[in-house]
Amino acid sequence: MADLLLPKIETNRMIDTEQRLGAHNYAPIDVMLTRGKGVWVWDVAGNRYLDCLSAYSALNQGHCHPQILDAMIAQAGKLTITSRALRNDQLGLFYEDLAQLTGAHKILPMNSGAEAVESAIKAVRKWGYEVRGVPEDEAEVIVCANNFHGRTIAIVGFSTDPAAKRGFGPFAPGFKIIPFGDLAAFEAAITPSTVAFLVEPIQGEAGVIIPPAGYFKGVREACSRHNIILILDEIQTGLGRTGKLLAEEHEAIEADVTLLGKALSGGFYPISAVLSNKEVLGVLKPGEHGSTFGGNPLACAISRTALRVLIQEGMIENAAQQGAYFKKSLEAVKSNIVREVRGRGLMLSIELMPDAGVARRYCEKLARMGVLAKDVHNHTIRISPPLIITRDQIDWAVDRIGSCLQRH
Ligand SMILES: *Cc1c(COP(=O)(O)O)cnc(C)c1O
Repeated sequence: MADLLLPKIETNRMIDTEQRLGAHNYAPIDVMLTRGKGVWVWDVAGNRYLDCLSAYSALNQGHCHPQILDAMIAQAGKLTITSRALRNDQLGLFYEDLAQLTGAHKILPMNSGAEAVESAIKAVRKWGYEVRGVPEDEAEVIVCANNFHGRTIAIVGFSTDPAAKRGFGPFAPGFKIIPFGDLAAFEAAITPSTVAFLVEPIQGEAGVIIPPAGYFKGVREACSRHNIILILDEIQTGLGRTGKLLAEEHEAIEADVTLLGKALSGGFYPISAVLSNKEVLGVLKPGEHGSTFGGNPLACAISRTALRVLIQEGMIENAAQQGAYFKKSLEAVKSNIVREVRGRGLMLSIELMPDAGVARRYCEKLARMGVLAKDVHNHTIRISPPLIITRDQIDWAVDRIGSCLQRH
C-alpha cells in the first residue's frame, strides 16, 4: 500500500493545533501514526514501528484484524444502534458467546472500562443492601493502593496516585484502601459493611506488579467466608494478555464479578462488560442502570468476532509461549541499568535502576529505533505487544531494546 507521506512542516502544524485546541491531559510520544497492520504501525513519514504498547492492551488481536474489520463493516451497513429501549438481534448472540467463553451467568454491556468498574460498584452496593442486609448507605468496597481502575470521579476518589486524584474532590465515600498483595491487611479491613473487594489480578499501571503466590487463593477464601463479592478488574489482564483467557486462571480461583474492556473489541470500538457469577447483576431492575450505547448491535458484532479470532487463531497460547520467550530474552539483555524484568504472558515490564534517568527518555529513544513502548511511573517500561507477535519479531525488538537500555 502506498502511503501518502506528510511533510514535516505539516506534521508540526498538526502537533501545534493539538497543543492549541486540545486539553493537555496526555503527553504523547511525538510519533504521528497513520496506519497499522498486525503488530506493525507506520507514521506519517513512512517509518515503521513494532507496537509494544497495543493501546494499553486494547489491541490484543493486532491492528486492523481483517475478520473483525469485515464484521464491523457488515454490521455498520445493517444496523448500528437501537438503544436498549428496543431489542436488537445481536445482543443475545453476544451474551451467548461471552457466557460460553467465560462461564458468566449474567452480563452487563457498557462502553469504557471505567464504566464497567462504576457499574460493578453500583451493583455490589445494591446487592449488599438487598441480599446481605447491609444498612442503607453503609456499604463499603475494599480496594488496593496503587490501583488503576479508570478516570471517573468515584474511581479517582480511591486512587492513591496524586496526579490522578489531586484537585478533583470531593469524592464518593465508601471505599477503604489496603496494600496490594497483603492478605492479612485484607482480612483486617473486612467489616460487617464490606460488600466487595475490587482488585486487579496483576497491577498493570502500577508497573506490572504480580502479587505473592497464594495471595488470591487466600483472598478468594476470605471473600467466600465473609460473603464478600470478589471483583477482578481484568480490563487489562483479561482476554489472553497474560497467557490465559483470564488472569484468575493463574491463581486457580474464580471471581464473582469480572470486568472486561479494552481487547473485547480488538481495538475497533469502545466495548466493556461486567460479568457476574453470583446473582449480583440480578439486583438491577429496569430503570436502575443503563447506557445509550451499551449493548448496541455494532459493538456486539465486533466483539463476537474479536473473541472468535482470539480463540480460533490461538492468540492466548501464543501469548503464553511468546511471552515466556520475550521475558527470557529481556532477562538475558546485558545492561547495568535494568533492575528487574517482570510479567506474565505478554504483559511485561522492565524496571530500570533508580539512577538510570526517567524511563520516558528510553521510550523516546526506543521509538526512534522502531519500537513503541510506554513508560509507567518514572522508572518502568511496559512491554505489551499484540498477542500475535512471533519469535522473529521478538528477537528484532529485543535487539533494539538491548542497545537502547545502555547508560547515557
Ligand atoms: C484501562 C483500564 C481501565 C479503564 O478503562 P477505560 O476504557 O480507559 O475507561 C480500568 N481498569 C484497568 C485495569 C485498566 O487497565
